[in-house]
Amino acid sequence: MRVLVVEDEPALALNLQRTLEAAGFAVDVAYDGEEGWFLGDTESYDAVVLDLGLPKVDGVTVLQRWRAGGRTMPVLILTARGRWSEKMAGFNAGADDYLTKPFEMDEVVYRLKALIRRAAGHAQPEILCGLVRLDTHSGRVTVSGQPVVLTAQELRILSYLMHHRGRVVSRTDLVEHVYDRNAEVDSNVLDVLVGRIRKKLGADIIHTLRGQGWRVDAEN
Ligand code: CA
Repeated sequence: MRVLVVEDEPALALNLQRTLEAAGFAVDVAYDGEEGWFLGDTESYDAVVLDLGLPKVDGVTVLQRWRAGGRTMPVLILTARGRWSEKMAGFNAGADDYLTKPFEMDEVVYRLKALIRRAAGHAQPEILCGLVRLDTHSGRVTVSGQPVVLTAQELRILSYLMHHRGRVVSRTDLVEHVYDRNAEVDSNVLDVLVGRIRKKLGADIIHTLRGQGWRVDAEN
């Protein structure tokens, strides 16, 4: 899963980036509203953390522009304490959730995971595909109840495919949602990684569709 953080306070931006990367997300950071809007408009994100008080273009305007342009990714807004009118403006502009500063870093992780899961149509924190179960909170994967140890990259790929089970995920989709924009990705790497995931799972839930991409079925 790939997220965008738009936050102008350098220390908070860095803290968010590190926390989210440690939680397994690919993370891009923008430090003002203009760059944030541009990235959200042109790149593919599974969710966004958006501060409302931003230089150049304020957060509410950024969000309004994304929504007007048809960008539907879940957006978690960050607001200052006690600014109810600010939160309301954020929700009216299309925010999905909010956190008031200061907040616990772990709370951002939990809320983002829940937003991403719900946006993909899953109400439960566990996603089941055949014998494979993914706990979206902990990132734990089990096959028939037995834990499977995956690397961070493997988990990101499997998690994206399982969130979008029943749909064909193209190579481009997968690259865009698994790596940040600074990553240099050789697309053959994906085949190697998918191969490794298959081997570790033992259950063949990932189908390769030649020339199209991959699909995980809900049942198999
Ligand atoms: Ca700010």
